[in-house]
Amino acid sequence: MPLPSPPPVPGSVFRSRRAVLPEGERAADVLVRGGRIEAVAPHGSLHADTVTDLGSLVLLPGLVDSHVHVNEPGRTEWEGFDSATRAAAAGGVTTIVDMPLNSVPPTTTPEGLTAKRRAADGRVRVDVGFWGGAVPGNTAELEPLHRAGVFGFKGFLSPSGVEEFPHLEPADLERALAETARLDALALVHAEDPAVLDRAPLRPGRRYRDFLASRPGGAETAAVARLLDTARRTGARVHVLHVSSAAVLPLLARARADGVRVTAETCPHYLCLTAAEVPDGDTAFKCCPPIRDESNRERLWEALAAGEFAAVVSDHSPCTADLKLLDRGDFAAAWGGIASLQLGLAAVWTEARRRGHGLAEVVRWMSAGPAALAGLPAKGAIAPGRDADLVAFDPDAVFRVDPATLHHRNPVTPYAGRTLTGAVRTTWLRGRVVEPSTEPFGRLLTRPGEATP
Ligand SMILES: [Zn+2]
Repeated sequence: MPLPSPPPVPGSVFRSRRAVLPEGERAADVLVRGGRIEAVAPHGSLHADTVTDLGSLVLLPGLVDSHVHVNEPGRTEWEGFDSATRAAAAGGVTTIVDMPLNSVPPTTTPEGLTAKRRAADGRVRVDVGFWGGAVPGNTAELEPLHRAGVFGFKGFLSPSGVEEFPHLEPADLERALAETARLDALALVHAEDPAVLDRAPLRPGRRYRDFLASRPGGAETAAVARLLDTARRTGARVHVLHVSSAAVLPLLARARADGVRVTAETCPHYLCLTAAEVPDGDTAFKCCPPIRDESNRERLWEALAAGEFAAVVSDHSPCTADLKLLDRGDFAAAWGGIASLQLGLAAVWTEARRRGHGLAEVVRWMSAGPAALAGLPAKGAIAPGRDADLVAFDPDAVFRVDPATLHHRNPVTPYAGRTLTGAVRTTWLRGRVVEPSTEPFGRLLTRPGEATP
């Protein structure tokens, strides 16, 4: 007579031959209870009332995208919380952290944060946190924003593209970083130097080469040098957003060796696309800093493989199709920003796999890394105590990007027509399937340690 099987444990089990755990890819059972991961056990070892057996589909921790411009309220026609979080879930992203600009008002005051939260409340399909903004003259707002639970502060060193979010001149940067250092808050910086940009040749028109010449890598190097200098003096913790030019990497390494607390991120488009393949007039490819040449891209990959980047995040920055000026194709006049929230995982996986990287590395770059960067201890790993934010991923599925399948409010994408590898089959947030038809149950997050307002 067979031995009676043990009584089922309360909760539900997610079973996969390929679960990506912090220690690597394993065959595992993941026990989920009350929205949290309670245990990770050998494959087939747990008995529960509900077992979701994924077979050989990969079980990933949900991705964390700490660089998303939602634009609501105020520019909801560019992107809103409903459309952005639908796209996120479809792309395997279970947490986003929203950037403080392009919405009106921007998140540069506690009132601005309240407006954001009100716009998002009850409408988000994944969890959403908020960055605050540092602009000239708002230093006194940083502490109340910090207490209200923003995850850190973003500032620009060159014009941001919208007038309600002006950039920081050197003295403003000094003041902002002194304050974030005092608060021990993370300062995120768009690092391009306005003087270098002003000196660069500006030739409007359809030629990508001309646009590229107008945003030289030297603008990033100069801005990063100034940022590091200010960080060194103030003791601030700083993070360089969307590194496009690999020339900044040695500066970062040297500063780190000197004890400056600096991290950096790069984005799927810098890792997956190159200047040579941008068709003239195709402003879907326009972003700032720009997509650069092949040898630069190779150096970004080397740095990524060497652990020099804390995160790979989308910098999802959409606008309405008309602002992209796709008919005219003028790179100088079109809005700069690439929308890729739904496609980031597949884009990076396609390129990573070709280069011999595994999914454990992709998870480090796109889930664990950004979770640590933003300070989200409940996110970023399949491990006991974490939120059960999970993704069933088919790493071998091949598909052609059809903009009509994107949930972004404006499905303009430089990946249109490209063949990518890797498809998200199901996304769970705190153990519940995220489906387009059900009521949204994402939460608004505050920095751990701060009370929910
Ligand atoms: Zn951005």
